Amino acid sequence: MTFSEFNFVSELQEGLDAMGFEKPTPIQEQAIPLILQGKDLIATAQTGTGKTAAFILPVLNQISQSQKKGVKVLIIAPTRELAIQIDQQIQGLAYFLGISSIPIYGGGDGNTWEQQRKALELGAEIVVATPGRLIALLAGGKVKFDALEHLILDEADRMLDMGFSEDILTIIQHLPKKRQTLLFSATMPSKIRKFSQQILQDPEQISIALGKTAKGVSQYVYHVYDNQKEELVRQILRSQDLQAVIIFCSTKDKVKSLFKTLRKEFQVEAFHADLDQSEREQIMSSFKNKSLKILVATDILSRGIDVEDIEMVINFDTPNDPEDYVHRVGRTARAEKKGKAVTFVNEKDRYKYRDIENLIGLEIEVVPNPEDIGQGPDLKSAPSRKSGGGGKPKGGGKPKGYPKKSKRKFRDNPSQAVGNASSEGERKEPENPSPQDGKFRKRKNIKGE
Ligand code: AMP
Repeated sequence: MTFSEFNFVSELQEGLDAMGFEKPTPIQEQAIPLILQGKDLIATAQTGTGKTAAFILPVLNQISQSQKKGVKVLIIAPTRELAIQIDQQIQGLAYFLGISSIPIYGGGDGNTWEQQRKALELGAEIVVATPGRLIALLAGGKVKFDALEHLILDEADRMLDMGFSEDILTIIQHLPKKRQTLLFSATMPSKIRKFSQQILQDPEQISIALGKTAKGVSQYVYHVYDNQKEELVRQILRSQDLQAVIIFCSTKDKVKSLFKTLRKEFQVEAFHADLDQSEREQIMSSFKNKSLKILVATDILSRGIDVEDIEMVINFDTPNDPEDYVHRVGRTARAEKKGKAVTFVNEKDRYKYRDIENLIGLEIEVVPNPEDIGQGPDLKSAPSRKSGGGGKPKGGGKPKGYPKKSKRKFRDNPSQAVGNASSEGERKEPENPSPQDGKFRKRKNIKGE
């Protein structure tokens, strides 16, 4: 299938060409025709599948032909990073349509607040907002959504987990009843279904298989004791010239402590909820333009963040929730590229590890620890919690000889191939690339592959 089959207005097709999008992804193939028909939609799709463009493209096509004045599209997203990213994708795709959009999110200074308020009052055609900030702006009473035609809730499961359901319902009270509503979610628990019944009308449903990690990701685990983790991560980082790595830890304290250790040797930054907005933006901007190569982060970064060419994701701590694994690993191998995901599993986390394998339907390859780090615990015999295998992990047990042959040197480990995952080497990007600059250059690279 090609995009031309959707018969988009020519300026939108131009935007697609400039972005280098040649073929629709599966979620786009399924969602775009339904959205063009004006249907409400519930879609299960994880990030990395092209879900953002799946809702942006048809909606842009529709509003480019609408005569109404004012905000025509409201997109609600859980985090400011995701809101900014969606807005950037709109700016790239809508470049030749001349449609205006604005991201509205918390943090920032008084100026940001003023700018956001003005843009809302003047009626940018598309608003991409986090719920909290939008509610605060609505409270001023001057923001009107009378012209609204499309409401999109992105990462709805995440928003409900973050406690935003009341806020979203409040926002919806300010919207016209006659509108198209689209709900995108990485997972579809019953609370999302119930929630959707309150706000969608007779929705179509589509689902892009959840729980499968992207095809291009090679996944490995190391069985480790906690005191082996730091040295192992240092060795992985030293052993190859990685240009973009995210290391996930389970808590912000762990992020801070690993950051302190790694910064003695590597150029690295920490990303967690304690940073203020300008710090977050600065870090993300240098990570995106590759002047910063290593980020240590909490799960705040695991969803929805679209950075090109991440070569490796290291799960310093096994994710608590198997779905978080899929999200973390989804940071690499975006849009059919290649990437590596390495997970450290200790004895305590052996059950989480089993649950991850169950969810992704794959036995993850175990890599023997480098010789000088020594053997880790034997985790292979752990049953899954979900399979009812019972029995607690035997805490503190000495390794039972797994892996049997741990004599392989580090350089033999599969994760070393990661250095070849990107052949681009150092890319020169402007310090603060404009959204269009970044997107256009980025897509041209993809095209040239
Ligand atoms: P998403 O799942 O929306 O986070 O998208 C993941 C990445 O895929 C983003 O960098 C998009 O720009 C890119 N993308 C989306 N649709 C296409 C497409 N049809 N062809 C190539 N890249 C795409």
